Formats: sequence, C-alpha cells, structure tokens
Amino acid sequence: MAKIEIILGDITKSRVDAIVNAANTTLLGGGGVDGAIHRAAGPELLAVCRPLHGCATGEAKITPGFRLPATYVVHTPGPIWRGGQHHELTLLANSYRNSLNLAATNGCKTIAFPSISTGVYHFPLAVAAEIALRTLQATAATTAKTIELIQIVCFDEQTKKAYETALAELSA
Ligand code: ADP
Repeated sequence: MAKIEIILGDITKSRVDAIVNAANTTLLGGGGVDGAIHRAAGPELLAVCRPLHGCATGEAKITPGFRLPATYVVHTPGPIWRGGQHHELTLLANSYRNSLNLAATNGCKTIAFPSISTGVYHFPLAVAAEIALRTLQATAATTAKTIELIQIVCFDEQTKKAYETALAELSA
C-alpha cells in the first residue's frame, strides 16, 4: 500500500518518477503550477504537448519531464469550480484517479501531486483535500497497487494544513 506524504514545497523540484500538472484543457501551458512546470521543463515540453490536442477535464495524458528532475509529467485539467452542481466533485476525483493509474501503467513507483483546482480554479480547499486523499487511497489500494509513494506538494501553509486535516479525518 502506497505511503501518502503531505509536504510544503515547489513541485518542479520533486525528484520522483512523475509529477502531476494541474493543466488546462489546451495542454499548452498557463499560469500557476502549469507555468512553473513548463518553465522548469523547458520548451521541449510544449513541443510534445502540442500534438496531444488538449485533454478533457478529469482525464490525464503523460509526457517526458525533459529538464525536470522527474522522469514524467502527468497532465490533468481539474474542474473549474462553478458552485458545486456541475459535476465538479466527480471530475476532481477523476483527475486524481486517472493520473495515478496512468503513472502506474507507465511503471512509476513515486509520484507528486499539486493541489489540483484550488488555485485559479477556486475549488474549496477542504472539500478538494478530502476528495484528493480519499480517491488516491482508494486507487492505490485497487488499480494502482505498484505505486509506493504519493506526495502532495503544497505551495503554502494553508494548503498543507487543509490536506493534513483531511488525512487525519480519513485515518480516524
Ligand atoms: P488550478 O488552475 O488547478 O487551480 P493553480 O496552478 O492555479 O491550478 O493552483 C493549484 C495549486 O498549485 C495552488 O495551491 C497553487 O498555490 C499551487 N502551486 C503553484 N505553483 C506551484 C509549484 N511550483 N509547486 C507546487 N504547487 C504550486
């Protein structure tokens, strides 16, 4: 069973088999963690993303990591929060499940996730944290059993606290 760790840091520095990019549906780069990943990976990343012709919300696509310490980048567009009645919860769970499964089928044993959708996509943090951890635990226990380590890389203290609280509640 995979170990889940919640850490504070910059995911572009993560030395894992795969990092997950909270992308947009164009897969052509953007702001936030997406921009940081493209800057750190170098222009080769955009060059291989272009022929992928985008990605639907909740789905995932994989590329090499190029200049990143990580071998792969798994790109997944999380849902934009529109009040909670537009399948946002299901779509966020899909992003985590599909990303973890895609990494596992590509032989990854260690993976790092950012807090998908809780930046400019405005998904409520506490709800997002619970969905993320619940989905990752369930997926790691069933279809992605070869994954050994899952890191949630939080960019600020408030985000880290939310994931720690959610993990404590799930383990209780
Ligand atoms: P989304 O569009 O899915 O909301 P954002 O990139 O706006 O994506 O934000 C998602 C989360 O990623 C936010 O918590 C943001 O602070 C965080 N973030 C931004 N840059 C980095 C980084 N270099 N490493 C890890 N997390 C980051």
